[in-house]
Amino acid sequence: PLVLGIETSCDETGVGIVRGTSLLANAIASSMEEHARYGGVVPEVAARAHLEAMTPTIREAVAEAGIRLEDVDAIAVTSGPGLSGALMVGVGAAKALAVALGKPLYAVNHLVGHVGADVLRAEGEGDIELPTIALLVSGGHTSLLLVRDLVSDVELLGETIDDAAGEAFDKVARVLGLPYPGGPQIDRVAASGDPRAIRFPRGLSLPKDRERHRYDFSFSGLKTAVARWVEREQDAGREVPVADVAASFREAVVDVLLTKALAACADVGVPRLLLGGGVVANARVREVARERCAEQGVELRIPPLELCTDNGAMIAALGAQLVMAGREPSGLDFGADSTLPVTLIQVG
Ligand code: ATP
Ligand code: MG
Ligand code: FE
Repeated sequence: PLVLGIETSCDETGVGIVRGTSLLANAIASSMEEHARYGGVVPEVAARAHLEAMTPTIREAVAEAGIRLEDVDAIAVTSGPGLSGALMVGVGAAKALAVALGKPLYAVNHLVGHVGADVLRAEGEGDIELPTIALLVSGGHTSLLLVRDLVSDVELLGETIDDAAGEAFDKVARVLGLPYPGGPQIDRVAASGDPRAIRFPRGLSLPKDRERHRYDFSFSGLKTAVARWVEREQDAGREVPVADVAASFREAVVDVLLTKALAACADVGVPRLLLGGGVVANARVREVARERCAEQGVELRIPPLELCTDNGAMIAALGAQLVMAGREPSGLDFGADSTLPVTLIQVG
């Protein structure tokens, strides 16, 4: 089926078009730069930017795919989780399109969409093998999932109990005087630092956490530890070794992410790990993931980066999976749900 997907959960206005598991278009407009001066995504600014970008981004995707809007078999849209105002813009646009074109509408889960991105592979790369463990790491989420079936069976194993991993990168970057978004900045600076220079805490990794928080994450203590360490150096009149701090912080995040993800693979007996979310852009995340997965005989899948960050193609891909599985459309009687749980793959 030819499916158009709309994504507006955070600061990316994404419109993607797929035919089954083939990617035809992935148009994205981002309001990131507008948020930069606030040091983080401002919900009201994001919603307004989505409203402005929506029509041009739809046009761009349709042109890129070389289709006519009337040819689309179904529309898919992110209904949550995410920022309410931002989500509402996408949901409204998708409903309007569905009504105007007389096409079925599928309201889907953003997080499952990140996993769905993996079906959009180049020819010959093979289909996603299920079940798989999936680690989603972005500015808003840090979730560890057991995906048995993309359209019917996604289990939440664990998630962050405070900050998301990307959020931690952004906050620590601010402490180090680096601009927003901090992830790429820390990555760049860390390249010339020593990851063993400072031993920062690995959140929820103590023996007592092994029962209740085995697959959960916590990054706010790490952020505070870095801020305290930097303050101490400054108070002592010493120059802060930014590269070493960045490298040591990055190492702590990456270590805990992959230790927990691979523990899940081992515990559940699923030798497959799929990564998604903007933090997957991190060079060290990729490196350590490759090393440790190879060591433990776990097959690692990382979709192309433009499909790891928020985008409309992954939403279209998940919508196409629902169509192909014979699911009923969502109708028009659903809204944006900012806290939609990952187990709810389709809404309505
Ligand atoms: P959501 O959480 O809803 O997916 P988002 O916009 O926060 O939305 P993404 O666009 O997927 O998520 O990712 C953005 C986040 O990824 C930011 O926090 C950014 O700092 C982080 N990030 C981007 N590149 C890197 C990198 N190289 N290293 C670490 N973090 C990175
Ligand atoms: Mg984003
Ligand atoms: Fe996302």
